[in-house]
Amino acid sequence: MTPETVYESLRDELISDLKAAMPMDGVMLLLHGAMVAGDYDDCEGDLLAHIRKIVGPDIPVGAVLDLHANVSDQMLQQASVLVGYKEYPHTDIYQRLEDLFHIVADAAEGKTRPVMYSFALPIIGGSYHTNCEPMHSFVRKMEALEKQDAVLNVWLAHGFEYGDVPFLGVRMVAITDNAPSLAEEIAEKMGRKFYTMRNEALAKPETMESCLDTAVAAPQGPVTIADTFDNAGGGAPSDSTFFLKEMMDRKIENAGIASIWDPVAVSICEDAGMGACLPLRIGGKLGPASGNPVDVTATVIGRAENVIQELGGSQMSMGRCAAVKIYLGADGPRDASPEQGIDVILSQIRTQPVAPNIFTELGVDPFLKKILVIKSNQHFFAAFEPISADILYAGGLGVLQSDMTTIPYKRANTKQF
Ligand SMILES: [Zn+2]
Repeated sequence: MTPETVYESLRDELISDLKAAMPMDGVMLLLHGAMVAGDYDDCEGDLLAHIRKIVGPDIPVGAVLDLHANVSDQMLQQASVLVGYKEYPHTDIYQRLEDLFHIVADAAEGKTRPVMYSFALPIIGGSYHTNCEPMHSFVRKMEALEKQDAVLNVWLAHGFEYGDVPFLGVRMVAITDNAPSLAEEIAEKMGRKFYTMRNEALAKPETMESCLDTAVAAPQGPVTIADTFDNAGGGAPSDSTFFLKEMMDRKIENAGIASIWDPVAVSICEDAGMGACLPLRIGGKLGPASGNPVDVTATVIGRAENVIQELGGSQMSMGRCAAVKIYLGADGPRDASPEQGIDVILSQIRTQPVAPNIFTELGVDPFLKKILVIKSNQHFFAAFEPISADILYAGGLGVLQSDMTTIPYKRANTKQF
């Protein structure tokens, strides 16, 4: 949850800039759509309402939202248009910004009159991957609909299932040029279509043990395993040690893990210097859901001042990072060889890794590894799929439960689901 004062200061700065820039032809924003801050359970709706108050009812106000948005009635009322990502992993962020620009610019010039309709589904939401069926074809269908006359945009808000808000859930959104009944028809038809395939579309992670069995038995690597329950993008600590401990217990070698959030361990590695071999306590610091810290003898094999991860035209910083090699043999560190031990990337900033440069910038070649463990739910797929022999999804241990019946919602209207 965002601290209330942080949200208010961001909002007030934006509003003050907007006031100074008036008059405006149109307003475009890049938001997420599931921000909660203290008593604000609908930050985006609140922000859009403040903007609307300044620009008045006739200026087009549009926003691009992450498809993991919980779309509220307030957002729909205050914005002229909301355009969501279509792809998970979010490889289409830049395209959606272009879509929004054309819709808002045409409306500002009086060429179109966008109308938006949203069809709410009685589903909490979950992990729906669009790189595979049936979601791949569902996205192609949305794109095909946009080629019809008067249809400006069609998208599915998957919802953010870890957001405990009254309007939690999945919504199908359609925007047309002054054709409200067409928008309603498309949103309802596509919404009902998604409802029928909701269970088939939901990703179903396997256990950590089963993923490691498969990866060890694979004829070639790298087999990339997503540690979905420790994905910082969903709010998880990103410092759980379940995989590291299990791999050490099994004496699995030639493996890489990215990345364990541990700024203290990063600082210790920086102070020790490249090549230093030292006792190190890794991860497990945020709480019991992270598992216990793991004590290892580690050799510092890489350092970087600021690793930037790219996804769909957006960038995320992992901050200062360090790579350590954990040797598993009873005789301790041997002559350095890339195939030996487990290479663990430690990060200063708690962000999910999404691209192989989280390894390469620290001197680790992920392509040569047999097994890669990535603390991400799905965004890693776009950049790791081309270098992976296989991709597996592991769940079961950690914060991000995929069984929603175990989550103690207080604000969400769970009776409807
Ligand atoms: Zn998302």
